[in-house]
Amino acid sequence: MNTSVLVVVLFALCLIYYMWRRIRPSLNHLSEEDVDDFLANRLNETALKNAREHLLRCDECKEKLDEHTRKVQKMKPDRLLKRRF
Ligand SMILES: [Zn+2]
Repeated sequence: MNTSVLVVVLFALCLIYYMWRRIRPSLNHLSEEDVDDFLANRLNETALKNAREHLLRCDECKEKLDEHTRKVQKMKPDRLLKRRF
């Protein structure tokens, strides 16, 4: 009886661990850098997928993305100037 309880507990732990690993990346809020990379299309496939999944669920990061988009649009002339000089 002890052994079967142990097996069930181990199985449950593995399941939780597996689910946690799958869910965790999209639970983290996007950092400023992530948002920047996301907008500039610099994220790799996995990161992009995680970011998209997160954005579907998180209004906070959606807002951050909007804000960033506005900021980037405002900053564009500056960036071009910096690049030129
Ligand atoms: Zn978020």
